[in-house]
Amino acid sequence: MTIAIFPGSFDPITLGHQDVALRAAKVFDKVYFGVYANPNKNVMFSLDERVKFAKATFKDVDNIIVTSYDGLTVDFAKEVGASVMVRGLRVSADFEYEFDMSMMTKKLSPDLNMICFMANPEYQFLSSSLLKEIASLGGDIRPWVPDPVWKAIKKKCPKVK
Ligand code: ADP
Repeated sequence: MTIAIFPGSFDPITLGHQDVALRAAKVFDKVYFGVYANPNKNVMFSLDERVKFAKATFKDVDNIIVTSYDGLTVDFAKEVGASVMVRGLRVSADFEYEFDMSMMTKKLSPDLNMICFMANPEYQFLSSSLLKEIASLGGDIRPWVPDPVWKAIKKKCPKVK
């Protein structure tokens, strides 16, 4: 059985993240969708909210398990018995970041392999930070987030139509 983790801040989960997770779930037996508790960036949504959105998004997918974690991602992988770490690649800037991350991961945990999924062309431009900015300015982000996220953002950003 091959177990993978898909770690990230997911603040909030977008259709781009959802697409990568669903594709990973077709390749691996089990995917732990790991919501990182304390990302080194300003978050709009609490850990509980980020986890709740992801759980609602994958409620009908048996082999995606949503959970939160803190500390080193390699330790999270060990805890759940994962041999693969999944990440998504949009443009070349992602590549540089993910490449550095994979080098460090290899040093920390030589048996954990990183596998990157190329972003779906429809979602290449999509990032959580861009969506948060659009929402805070009153733009409609409904086409790019799972439904539970849209409802929550609407509550949080009164300007959103
Ligand atoms: P992090 O803070 O760990 O970068 P993110 O939530 O921003 O967490 O992203 C998690 C992973 O999903 C990263 O590998 C990122 O490159 C990838 N990702 C983000 N947006 C998309 C998208 N639109 N399509 C595919 N992958 C994406």
